[in-house]
Amino acid sequence: MGSGPFPYRGDKLPEDGILLNNTILNSSVQIAKLNRIVQFLWQGGDSMRQLLNSTTNLLIVGAGPTGLTMAHELLRRGIACRLIEQKDTLAQTSRAIGIHSRTLEIFEAMGVVEAFLSQGVQITGGNVYDGGKTLLRLDFQHLDAPYPYILSLPQSKTEQNLLARLRSLRGEVEFSRQLLALQQENDTVVAQVKHTHDDSVEKIQADWVIGCDGARSQVRESLNLTFEGSTYEEEFVQADVNLDWKKSRQEIHVWLHESGPFAVFPLPDGEQWRLIAGIVDSGRGAPEASVEVLQRIFQERTGDNQTTISNPTWLSNFKIHRRIVNHYRQGRIFLAGDAAHIHSPVGAQGMNTGIQDAYNLAWKLAMVITGDSSPSLLDTYETERHPIAQSVLTGTHASTQFITTQNPAIRLIRDQLLTQLLNLGMIQTFMLKRIAELDIHYHNSPLSQNHYGSLAKSTLLPDRTQETPSLQDRISFHAAPKAGDRAPQGFGLHYPSYRQISLFEAFRGTQFNLLLFDGLAQTAEGYTRLLELANQMESSLGTQVRLHLVVAALEPPFDLNWSDLNWHGSLILDPQQELHQQYGAAAESLYLIRPDGYIGFRSQSVEAEPLLPYWRNSFQSNTPIHA
Ligand SMILES: Cc1cc2nc3c(=O)[nH]c(=O)nc-3n(C[C@H](O)[C@H](O)[C@H](O)COP(=O)(O)OP(=O)(O)OC[C@H]3O[C@@H](n4cnc5c(N)ncnc54)[C@H](O)[C@@H]3O)c2cc1C
Repeated sequence: MGSGPFPYRGDKLPEDGILLNNTILNSSVQIAKLNRIVQFLWQGGDSMRQLLNSTTNLLIVGAGPTGLTMAHELLRRGIACRLIEQKDTLAQTSRAIGIHSRTLEIFEAMGVVEAFLSQGVQITGGNVYDGGKTLLRLDFQHLDAPYPYILSLPQSKTEQNLLARLRSLRGEVEFSRQLLALQQENDTVVAQVKHTHDDSVEKIQADWVIGCDGARSQVRESLNLTFEGSTYEEEFVQADVNLDWKKSRQEIHVWLHESGPFAVFPLPDGEQWRLIAGIVDSGRGAPEASVEVLQRIFQERTGDNQTTISNPTWLSNFKIHRRIVNHYRQGRIFLAGDAAHIHSPVGAQGMNTGIQDAYNLAWKLAMVITGDSSPSLLDTYETERHPIAQSVLTGTHASTQFITTQNPAIRLIRDQLLTQLLNLGMIQTFMLKRIAELDIHYHNSPLSQNHYGSLAKSTLLPDRTQETPSLQDRISFHAAPKAGDRAPQGFGLHYPSYRQISLFEAFRGTQFNLLLFDGLAQTAEGYTRLLELANQMESSLGTQVRLHLVVAALEPPFDLNWSDLNWHGSLILDPQQELHQQYGAAAESLYLIRPDGYIGFRSQSVEAEPLLPYWRNSFQSNTPIHA
C-alpha cells in the first residue's frame, strides 16, 4: 500500500522502481516508458489528470478508528488495500475517550495494546451522585477479564496509535482524497475520488469497497440504503478542561440533576477532565460551550462551589442521534462503524463498536480474497454485526432516557429504587460486562455450532479410569462458554519451557485455533485418539488452524513416546485444571476458536466427524449461509 499508484504533479519521479498494482516495475525500459506517460499526463493539467485510472483489490474510505483498524487487519493478513481520507491529516480533537475491555483485547491481538496502556488512564470505577449523596457505585475491577477497566485516551491518540501500527506494516493513509461517488459494475466497484489539494479526480476500480466514512457516509449515500432513526431533543455541552479538585482520577463521576445529567471523566493529560452536561430544557436551547457556562453548570449540578474550571483545550456543543442502516453489505460494498450505526455516547460504545465491526469483517474478507473460503462467508458479517449495533442502539437509548428523564415520578423511582437494584452484585456484573462489550456473542450465527454427545453414551458417575463422560461432565460442558461466545482468557504452562502462557498469547496470529482438551481421565487410549484427530485436522484444515493440546497434568504423557509423535501444535499443561474447568472440559472436548477470538465450534466428543462438515459448510460451501 502506498500513497497512490502515481506520484503527484511536482513530485520527484522515482528512479528505482514504481509499485503499480502490486507489481514492481524496475526495468529501465519499463520505468522510462511509464515516466513518459506520467510526465505527459502531468503537463496536461487537471483535465488530463482525470484520465488517470487505477485499480486496487480493496478500497477503504475513511481513516477514523474503524478504517484504520480495517486496513491494519487486512494488511496483517497480507491483503494490500488503499485507505483514503478526505482530511489532510488525522483529526486533532479528543472525541471518543472510553476504550473498553473487549477492544483492549483486540488491540492486544493487533500488537498495539502497549502503546495504549502507556498513554491512557485506567478508569476502575464509576460513581453516580445526587448532589452530595452517592446513589450508585460501579467497580470495573469485578470484570473477569485481562483489562478490568475503561481506558481513557482521546480519540486523536487512538487514531495516531493505529496509524503508527499500520505504518509498521508499511501501510499508509492517502490523505486529501475524498470519495465523490461509487458505482457497482459487474465484478468491480468504480469510485470517483477527488484529490482535494488540486481538485483532480481519480477513477479507482476496486474489487471490494468498505465504507468507514462516518455518520455522513458517502458510501452509504451512493448505495441508497436507509439510515432510519431519530434525533434526541436533548442537547449536550462539552469541554476538556482542568479542574482543581481532589476527586479520584481513576473514576468517572456523574451527577443526576433535574436540569440534566452532568458527567466528569478523567483524561490522561495532567489535570485534564472531560465534562459533558445534558441540557434537557429544550425550550431555551443549550448555551454555547464556554468555561463560564460550564462553571455555572458544574456548581448547579454538583453543589461544589470550591472547584474552578480552567485551561479549556476543547469546547463543543452537540446533539445526539440514533440511526442504523438497513443493510451492512450491498454486493461488493460494505459499511462499518458510524457509517452503519450512530447512537448516544452514553456508555461510550460508538468507536468500540466500529473497531469491532472491522475486526469481524477483516478476517472474513481476507479468507475470501485469498481463496481460503467461499464468498458466502461474507454474508455472516451482516448476520453477526447488525444485531450487535441494534442492541447497542437499544441499550444506549435506555441509558440515555434513564439519566435525562424529566418526569418527576420516574426520577423518584430511579433515584430511590433502580439505583439500589443496580448496586446489587449480580446486576452490576451483567451491566459491567455489557458496558465492557465482553458479553457480545454470535450464538445465532450460522458460524456457531455446538455438538453435544449423546446422553446415552454417558456414565452415571465420573470414572476417571476411562474417557466416557459422566452426566456431570455433560452438564459442565453445557454450562461452559458456547459457540458464538468470546473464548475466555485463561492460563496454562507452555511445554517444554514451563513458562506461564495465557490463551490469548497462544491464540495470537491470524489463524483459527483448535483447543483439544484431554479431560481429567488420562488414558493411553484417550491421548492416542486426540493425537490421531490432531493429525487428521492438520492434514484437512492445513495451516489455517493452529492446534493446542491442553493436558490436565504437570507433565505431558511421556509413556506415549511424545517426542516421536508427529505433533506440530503446541502443548499447554493445565496442572490445576483451571482451563479444563473454564471450558467445561472434564471429559475430552474440543473448541475451534475463530481468528477474531470467538468460539466457532465446540464438541464434547472428540471426533473429526462433526468438525470437518462444520468446516466444509462454513468456509468451503458456495451456497449462501443463512442463520
Ligand atoms: C463527544 C463524543 C464522545 C464520544 N465518546 C465515545 C467514547 O468514549 N467511546 C466510543 O466508543 N465512542 C465515542 N464516541 C463516538 C465515536 O467518536 C465514533 O463512534 C467514532 O469516531 C466512529 O469511528 P468511525 O471510524 O466509524 O467514523 P469517524 O471517526 O467519523 O471517521 C470517518 C472518517 O471518514 C472520513 N470521511 C468521511 N467522508 C469521506 C469521504 N467522502 N471520502 C474520504 N473520507 C471521508 C472522515 O473525514 C473521517 O476521518 C463519541 C462521540 C462524540 C461526538
